[in-house]
Amino acid sequence: MTENLGFIGTGKMGAPMVRRLIDAGHALTVYDIRDEAVAPLIARGATKASSSREVADHAEIVFFSLPEPEDVRGEAIGAHGIINGERAKILVDLSTTGRPTTLVISETLAQNQIAIVDAPVSGGVAGANKGTLAVMASGDPAALERVRPLLANFGRLFVIGERPGMAQVMKLANNLLSATSLAVASEAVLMGMKAGLDPELMIEVINASTGRSSATETKFPQAILTRRFAYGFATGLMHKDVRLCLEEARSLGSPMTVGEAVRAIWQSTMRELGPDSDYTEIFRYLEQIASL
Ligand code: NAD
Repeated sequence: MTENLGFIGTGKMGAPMVRRLIDAGHALTVYDIRDEAVAPLIARGATKASSSREVADHAEIVFFSLPEPEDVRGEAIGAHGIINGERAKILVDLSTTGRPTTLVISETLAQNQIAIVDAPVSGGVAGANKGTLAVMASGDPAALERVRPLLANFGRLFVIGERPGMAQVMKLANNLLSATSLAVASEAVLMGMKAGLDPELMIEVINASTGRSSATETKFPQAILTRRFAYGFATGLMHKDVRLCLEEARSLGSPMTVGEAVRAIWQSTMRELGPDSDYTEIFRYLEQIASL
């Protein structure tokens, strides 16, 4: 079944997801604060809207792929948000937003009979292009069933629970691990380099050993050893995810001793290289500290 869908936030992740929905035959209405982000999608047949509210005037199901929780909140329940649109019935939030924001939005949207499915994703720009993301979804079962075939365009769906925000907690747990492994793998490889070891050989050995992770299996070979430092995820967004994870853990009374150290290293990376730097550049930052 082809549908009229809305999509807000057509950046690194959003744009390839919109392309996949268009290729599956759906009609898309899109909005992004940057015109240049929507232009290539308009060229492919999407319709441009000038606000989230306008998107929600056209589509029953609206997707978000937005950077910060404040953006998600504003575009959902702000004056120009989807809450004031005429047709929207389900918001699918693909962003990493954090549970408290999801819950506030959920309660407010419910007053206008709009359900939220929070469906954060993992797998990066490459996964968004290929449709091989892990999609973690939670929310009202009827709403989730309604959007299930659409989410299948993005990758493998994992239903995390029936309460909004549960999938956000799942995603934060995953990204704490991702943030930790990239930071600590960088420290481990730099130590070896200072002792005269070959970084390429180190990664080969680690990937045949117990220290391997997605950092050593994909980020090092593709973006760090090549010194391209263009993996497609901003340092500021990685720091945001760790911050949200720590806030969630604090509210639950769950320990985050390693997590606190991980947050500190991402905070100083962000301060030094700027929030828009690629997160694989954490290696470059630590390299400077190591005086290599
Ligand atoms: P991005 O910055 O490339 O894209 C976000 C887009 O939203 C941009 O085009 C920006 O112009 C637009 N935008 C910002 N504020 C807006 C607003 N108020 N209204 C409308 N448009 C607005 O970010 P991204 O890397 O695509 O990430 C999007 C979300 O997905 C984030 O929550 C991120 O944490 C998450 N995520 C990213 C990746 C990744 O590898 N890049 C992977 C998994 C999850």
